[in-house]
Amino acid sequence: MLKINIISEIDIPDPVLEHIESTLSEIAPTEVNVLEDIDLSDVVRSFRDVTRGQINAEKLLNALREVLNPGEFNDKIVVVVDDDGYVPGLNFVFGIAELCGNIAIVFTERLKATYISGTEDIAALFYERLTKEILHELGHTLCLEHCPNKKCVMSFSNSIFDVDYKDARYCKTCIEKARSAISWRKF
Ligand SMILES: [Zn+2]
Ligand SMILES: [Zn+2]
Repeated sequence: MLKINIISEIDIPDPVLEHIESTLSEIAPTEVNVLEDIDLSDVVRSFRDVTRGQINAEKLLNALREVLNPGEFNDKIVVVVDDDGYVPGLNFVFGIAELCGNIAIVFTERLKATYISGTEDIAALFYERLTKEILHELGHTLCLEHCPNKKCVMSFSNSIFDVDYKDARYCKTCIEKARSAISWRKF
């Protein structure tokens, strides 16, 4: 069983959690839970670069590894940060995760941009983007690298347009790769 624990600074609607669970279930049986009692805001904000007004994603990831101390390969933790993140050398990142690791971080700020003409349901668009980025970063923790299939949720997104273009699911190739990554680890 893949155990996905989400620690979020924003409320995530049940349909989003259900979509994440059912999409990951194509790879392996999955259970998604929200950990309501954990507040990481102080840790998160301690990595805020005041000049840039952004959070250093790499440093935060390293710190969370110590704070959260996750266990087995199949225990994944997603931290949703209601802020903007960066890594040195990039203007911003939608998220960050360690390949074959346990912890994924998703930043919400860049998912809020709504300059897509014809979009009326801004909240629905935001949650769709959030779903994709959570699935993308979790894919990295399942040993998936970036996928050349632009429709696959594991394709690399340079911009919010790339995020909107891809589907909120893994392509067949990525599903197979993740399955074998799991089986190597006697999951
Ligand atoms: Zn990526
Ligand atoms: Zn793919």
